[in-house]
Amino acid sequence: MTAQILVVDDVFANIKLLEAKLSSEYYDVISAKDGFEAIAKAKEHKPDIILLDVMMPGMDGFEVCKKLKEDFEVSHIPIVMVTALTDKSDRIKGLEAGADDFITKPINDVALFARVKSLVRIKMLMDELRLRDKTSIEMGIKQEASNTLLSDVSGSRVLLIDDDAVQGKQIVSKLSDTYEVEWIQEPDDGLARARDGNFDLILVSTLLTDADGLRLASQIKSQEELRNVPLLVLVDDDDKRIMLKALEMGMNDYMTVPVDKNEMIVRVRTQIRRRKYQEALKSQYQMSISMAITDALTGLYNRHYLNTHLSNMVKQALKNGKHMALMMMDMDHFKSVNDTYGHDAGDLVLKQLANLIIQQSRSSELAARFGGEEFVVLMPETDPASALAAAKRMRDIVEATPFKINAAGATIQKTISIGVASLHPDGDSAESLLKRADEALYEAKRSGRNKVTVSATLAPKGW
Ligand SMILES: [Mg+2]
Repeated sequence: MTAQILVVDDVFANIKLLEAKLSSEYYDVISAKDGFEAIAKAKEHKPDIILLDVMMPGMDGFEVCKKLKEDFEVSHIPIVMVTALTDKSDRIKGLEAGADDFITKPINDVALFARVKSLVRIKMLMDELRLRDKTSIEMGIKQEASNTLLSDVSGSRVLLIDDDAVQGKQIVSKLSDTYEVEWIQEPDDGLARARDGNFDLILVSTLLTDADGLRLASQIKSQEELRNVPLLVLVDDDDKRIMLKALEMGMNDYMTVPVDKNEMIVRVRTQIRRRKYQEALKSQYQMSISMAITDALTGLYNRHYLNTHLSNMVKQALKNGKHMALMMMDMDHFKSVNDTYGHDAGDLVLKQLANLIIQQSRSSELAARFGGEEFVVLMPETDPASALAAAKRMRDIVEATPFKINAAGATIQKTISIGVASLHPDGDSAESLLKRADEALYEAKRSGRNKVTVSATLAPKGW
């Protein structure tokens, strides 16, 4: 996942330092040395995240933040305020100015990358949601853009798992103003409650007396139905090892204890927003099922929707200088299923394939039935190597899945061939991208099927 980050600081050495850190993680960095330049660059480049210094001559960070948040063109870009460690009132002022998060100087790498990564993810979901809104309006399905910023997260359900009576009480009281909080003090009950409670966010302490909190968090995260529920862990301020481990294990973020009230407010809000965006994408899709844009058999988007959305997506990706990729897949020897077992069996197999595609796709990806036994998945912000990896995973999963052909449960083995194409950054079109994926698919078929082939244009290195 690549992202462009605008770093704003009046001290050149600070810009250089952040630039070095961020570039080492493959983020694309642009910079501004004061508030005026920051606003101009934000409008010109529309970065994915803005890291904003507080203390600057002329216009300070709070004022810049306020101005950006008032401007519809850039108000959706997440802003991280860079504040001095000692000044807690800066955090409150930052929040009031509309900042999405803050980090303190001197900048800790783990904290920096955790915040950036989590905001990049949420920005990506938000962009996709905005784009689908646009497609729906163009197709006459929707009248006007909804407020996709979904700033109101109040009433969301939070589960806290913590056996520390004093700390738990404090957290509950801080969060209860905005959220419905349930507090479990017995870690053994945590997993079951997490599963049943329909929560929007789960907080787990890693400082439990008789249990391993990180293990519990990981058990919760590995539940299929809880995969998309954001999980934050509470960690000891000094324990860098646990922070890193937690992030590596796929936890969404961490907070150090004793928890700072303002910090908790932004971290929890960011994660819940992300959850809400994912749900909005899902419900938008569900709404579309009853409309003329989905395929009746599989429930995936139909070709008509795909074409409209793809051309919007290509334009947006080119404008923002983003990667995007597309895979086109076709079931091998599908005709023989119909010929041997009948059309009902064939339909059943296609439905199962569509389900596998949906299960494998991320929320921001869009899957469509292109025709017959042919399917397309659009992958925003996906570089060629990741697209290839996703296609190979898809191929492997289909090969390993028994397909039912009747109600009695008889199964057959099937395979798919996949063609992958990536957007050319110097100029490209929806037609050309589809054509290249189609050619790659043809090549996969021609060279023996059950294969993934990448379009020669922008194939990943070593392919
Ligand atoms: Mg400064």
